[in-house]
Amino acid sequence: MTDTFEIKVNKVAESRLPSVNFDNMVFGTVYSDHMFVADYTDGEWKDFRVEPYAPLSLLPGSAILHYGQSVFEGLKAYRTAEGDIQVFRPDANAKRLNVSAERMCMPDVPEELFMAGLEKLMEVDKDWVPNKPETSLYIRPFVFAMDEYIGIRPSANYRFIIFTCPVGAYYSEPVRVKIETEYTRACPGGTGFAKAAGNYAGSLYPAKKAQEQGYQQLIWTDAVTHEYVEESGTMNLMFVIDGKLMTASTGDTILDGITRNSVLALAKEWGMEIVEGKIAIKDIIKAAEEGRLQEAFGTGTAATIAQIATIGYEGKDYDLPAVAEREFSNKVLKTLDDIKYGRQEDNHGWIRRM
Ligand code: PMP
Repeated sequence: MTDTFEIKVNKVAESRLPSVNFDNMVFGTVYSDHMFVADYTDGEWKDFRVEPYAPLSLLPGSAILHYGQSVFEGLKAYRTAEGDIQVFRPDANAKRLNVSAERMCMPDVPEELFMAGLEKLMEVDKDWVPNKPETSLYIRPFVFAMDEYIGIRPSANYRFIIFTCPVGAYYSEPVRVKIETEYTRACPGGTGFAKAAGNYAGSLYPAKKAQEQGYQQLIWTDAVTHEYVEESGTMNLMFVIDGKLMTASTGDTILDGITRNSVLALAKEWGMEIVEGKIAIKDIIKAAEEGRLQEAFGTGTAATIAQIATIGYEGKDYDLPAVAEREFSNKVLKTLDDIKYGRQEDNHGWIRRM
């Protein structure tokens, strides 16, 4: 694949690898030596290169700094016991990047280019994929406007970059989440289904307010009625009630999560009843009150499964059963981890060896 594109490689003079403490990596603070870069000018992607991870040079009038025409992805590479590197569903991330790009009026990144850049970067920085339990290499592909222009219009020039960060385990403790009924993340006709930079900027203030109230995260509700749950922070949200797996259907307000899709695929294979649709807050609360809410968790690349300990709604906290009792989410987490780390055969075509 990498042969189709000519990718120049300019390596660092000295790797930063020896200075990294792999026993203590705070998410998003350690960056690997290199990044893959491509430029979009005159209507095509060109100048493919792997170069040292380094500051970018942007003029103050760069459109990106003002209007946020930027989309990104997040995926991970895992080290198997044999030392191989496995990336989980990169094809799905490449496709979703283009779904986001279209909504933000940006050019497609051809899937082959995405994959060729990623493969070359993984080849150059393979030693950055950590091998301790629960660790992985977080991969951040993104595309952003490069025009120097402060009028509002789609940029003519773009840059595509992939960089990586070795990471330890994400949320380790089950979290307290608050059902948010004042602020919204996404609205019908908006950009919620896209992984667009601005969506995340807009979520910071409500999340900060929830944190001040003693919750680590929010459960977003629909913008129109605030009666239905959508996502939790930067994860899709799932519940097990009366043995059924329930999750909001994806539409234009919910990101079509790759972990969500993988969890649903496994649940289906295991014969679990799945309810994908509008999930009413009143049904969740009623189930919690009646002891029928067996599990609640977020799904996403960073944590895979983030267990929810407590749900706060209208000033009242609802505690969930102990994590050890949660049959489905524990099993699905173990299965996904086993596939990612190569302990279980991948019979879904989810793994790409690099
Ligand atoms: N929702 C939002 C808003 C997100 O940012 C993410 C993280 N990409 C997810 C859900 C989970 O998606 P995935 O499973 O593909 O990581």
